Amino acid sequence: MMIDFHAHAFPERIAARTIETLIANSARITDYPMKNCTDGTARGLIEVESSAGVDLAVVLPIVTNPKQTETINRVAKETNEANCGLYSFGSLHPAGPDAVAWVDRLAEEGFKGIKLHPEFQTFFTDSDEAIAIYRRVAHHGMTVILHAGRDIGYPPPVHAEPDMLLRAVDKVPDLRLVAAHLGGWMLWDEVAEKLVSTPIYFDTAFIADFIEPALARDIINAHGAEKILFGSDAPWEDPAKTLEFLRSLDIDTEDFKKICGTNAAGLLGI
Ligand SMILES: [Zn+2]
Repeated sequence: MMIDFHAHAFPERIAARTIETLIANSARITDYPMKNCTDGTARGLIEVESSAGVDLAVVLPIVTNPKQTETINRVAKETNEANCGLYSFGSLHPAGPDAVAWVDRLAEEGFKGIKLHPEFQTFFTDSDEAIAIYRRVAHHGMTVILHAGRDIGYPPPVHAEPDMLLRAVDKVPDLRLVAAHLGGWMLWDEVAEKLVSTPIYFDTAFIADFIEPALARDIINAHGAEKILFGSDAPWEDPAKTLEFLRSLDIDTEDFKKICGTNAAGLLGI
């Protein structure tokens, strides 16, 4: 079973506008703004995933305003009930008044994990508010996936640097943490130095165009394939392209299977 652990879809009504805004934000920071490979909808995501041979994609919603928490998680729940080849994580806003209570509620509703985005949500990943959330996530045996490293749409400071992630797992050792973008987007030398061989999972989202393949291979081999998750970041990278990149790294066949499905299935309990 092939599982893309990092993808995005937006409600139909706001999909086009959201795609446009995120591309415009990236164009302010970089000369290589993001490009979309879907129209931003769940339907569009299912199409690119199935044409890449992916059986299940994990959708990662992000609450950017605490007032949206209820709506975003309702849509996430509907996605999961639809059984359509997508599995959505829940989300909450660390600055929301009831952030920790939301972890309990999402656990009760059966969510396997939550997504947090320290740049979109402006919190440091080793802050007390974040640690309180991680403790609750760990208590429920859920997974938390964090955007890690720089973000193409945000200027520094970086809110999820390798040192911060180290402090987080030091404070909450039983936390199942996924650091997106191979541990820290555009901070891969530091990832290689500090995060490799820790218990933190890394996904492979949105790295193909930015990392030296040899460095990606070294990080994956040194870290251990059992803690690497194939993730594309669709609509920002076509899952077919991510898979082609991973294949080009000449990863051992058994390890490739773990990366593309077995590890994710373990985290999702399927
Ligand atoms: Zn993403």
